[in-house]
Amino acid sequence: MRLKDKVALITGGASGIGLATVKKFIAEGAKVAIADINVEQAQQVVDQLEPGSAVAVGVDVSKLAEVEAAVQSAVDAFGKLDVIFNNAGIAGGKPLLDQDPAVDYEPMIRVDQDGVYYGILAAGRQFKKQGTGGVIISTSSIYGEQAAELSFSYSAAKAAVISFTRSAAYELAEYGVRAVAITPGRVATPIINQFSDELKATFASEQLRNKMTAPEEIANVVAFLASDEANVINGTVVHVDDGYSVFKQRLD
Ligand code: NAD
Repeated sequence: MRLKDKVALITGGASGIGLATVKKFIAEGAKVAIADINVEQAQQVVDQLEPGSAVAVGVDVSKLAEVEAAVQSAVDAFGKLDVIFNNAGIAGGKPLLDQDPAVDYEPMIRVDQDGVYYGILAAGRQFKKQGTGGVIISTSSIYGEQAAELSFSYSAAKAAVISFTRSAAYELAEYGVRAVAITPGRVATPIINQFSDELKATFASEQLRNKMTAPEEIANVVAFLASDEANVINGTVVHVDDGYSVFKQRLD
């Protein structure tokens, strides 16, 4: 119960990594506001959880007013906010020279980059108001630290998440706030499951132990990072990629 009495807001909590983290946080004693653009799916998740442990909140993270309202909903439901997990995101991309900025750049930046900025801003203001400190965890990606095929906009947004994390740790330290970014590699969630079996096998082979990561494995790390046991991890990136970023190529 390492998150006993903590209140968390988890964006993108209706699916994938966010959903696994919702379940892990509740198992560790937290109360959770599940904030997702797909509010019906978020509500279905709430209906399957222990009554009183979670609420569903509709939010489009690309809109500051909606993110501020989501933070307020968590506070209204559970009395305070201790943790925000800025995790909602979209993926995809085209070769650079085929891109239409209005389709291939701006929406990605609005959700994957602005959405995290708004989460940090809204939660940071709440933490300052409470005077309690707080933890900000944000989902970047292995692509936030490298160039990759078809990921011009996605990589830019995910690199910004790492930069935001460093700056937030610096700016919000005086309020007792910590900030950490995680960089998942290949995680078996709906974002990835839409691809062909062949591509999924390639993805698995890019991780050192030749297997995709389960969302629950990421959730375990996020729960640790949110807990007081991780109190010294601040302003940095935690790689949760099963070695993807360490080695360029497997030798076999
Ligand atoms: P997912 O599609 O299962 O979950 C994403 C969730 O975000 C969905 O519930 C979706 O409804 C929600 N969402 C999308 N746009 C939103 C918006 N504008 N406002 C609010 N909610 C919105 O995918 P996932 O794999 O669990 O992805 C979670 C995060 O992990 C994303 O930021 C993704 O970029 C990142 N990531 C995933 C992988 C992977 O291999 N799956 C790897 C690296 C990083």
